[in-house]
Amino acid sequence: MVTKLEGYIPIAAPMIGDEEIDAAVRVLRSGTLAQGPEVRKFEKSFAEFCEVEHAVMLNSGTATLHAALHASNVGPGDEVLTTPFTFIGTVNPILAQGAVPKFVDINPDDFNINPDLVESAITSRTKAIIGVDLFGQPYDYIDLRDIAKRHNVMLIEDSCQAIGAKFREKSTGTLGDIGAFSLYATKNITCGEGGILTTNDNLVAEETRRFRQHGMSGPYEYEGHGYNYRSTDLAAAIASAQLRRVEEFNSHRQYNARILDQELSSIPGIIRPSVSPDRSHVYHQYTIRVTPDFPLTRDELRRVLKEHNIGSGVYYPQPLHLVNHINLGHFSVGDFPEAERASREVLSLPIHPMVTSGQLVHISSVIQSVATIRRSE
Ligand SMILES: *Cc1c(COP(=O)(O)O)cnc(C)c1O
Repeated sequence: MVTKLEGYIPIAAPMIGDEEIDAAVRVLRSGTLAQGPEVRKFEKSFAEFCEVEHAVMLNSGTATLHAALHASNVGPGDEVLTTPFTFIGTVNPILAQGAVPKFVDINPDDFNINPDLVESAITSRTKAIIGVDLFGQPYDYIDLRDIAKRHNVMLIEDSCQAIGAKFREKSTGTLGDIGAFSLYATKNITCGEGGILTTNDNLVAEETRRFRQHGMSGPYEYEGHGYNYRSTDLAAAIASAQLRRVEEFNSHRQYNARILDQELSSIPGIIRPSVSPDRSHVYHQYTIRVTPDFPLTRDELRRVLKEHNIGSGVYYPQPLHLVNHINLGHFSVGDFPEAERASREVLSLPIHPMVTSGQLVHISSVIQSVATIRRSE
């Protein structure tokens, strides 16, 4: 039994089947609902999946990034370099630590932070770099790792969108000192809300276990401050069932991406996602660019798709340096031109495993039809 799509093609749909439902019922009957053995079991399987020493589950991807910054000793006045073209959950934890986000523009090919621009942004206050594996493709790992090493700053990998993707043979979550994943409902695997931190660093893992539990090192003994960032056995049991299917889900997304790649190949003004040869892409989003060479604007094309019952998404319509509570007068329009151009051009199409090949052909033909009609007018 799996959720069925009717008529409308949504941009995201969780893949919930009997395994997840049975797991939830089993935990509900067990009497242990909060953090317990299911969380430990999920952490163990997740660490094995990423081939990493430690995995620590928390209750969101945002909490996980917050824990990663805390464990990296990022505090008031420190600078953290990151991309302005990401979900705001990458940047809010920097503010939570009283630190200052410093942005670096993206590479237009993979939408990720451009390593060529990172080094000149580093100052004596820089404590960490957060790279993001945006849309499901790992960032340029070798270059970022070398820069972080050379300047002795922590490299945090926001892998919230890229579970199971690889840089050469290395899994996401290991492409830095600390990895952070999200288990939110739209992500490639989900338990509704959740997050998990990965690291080979014993101290980071220990600090994170304390941080998610009010800084406790034992019952009512405190070794610093922390929060309630614990997850639940209910969530963990569902997440474990999802993890067993992640490779199936990701292959299905890759299969769907090949269909769209082919169907959209000859439409002028549409740029398809590009995948670097040493990386695999797990297509959390299949994101095209609608460039000025296409007869419709991105938003007009979105409306046409909607009229045809096709959902789409704009991730992200506003680069973060222009968001009020982050900007505070520090940044202006034009500071990060590639991020700003991406915000105007990107459009994500349904790619999740519930979308059929027939639907993908239909989506492509709708795009093709407006491309042709307008051109011949
Ligand atoms: C989803 C996401 C987050 C935040 O994860 P939550 O679980 O929603 O808190 C952070 N960064 C990126 C890139 C994301 O996609």
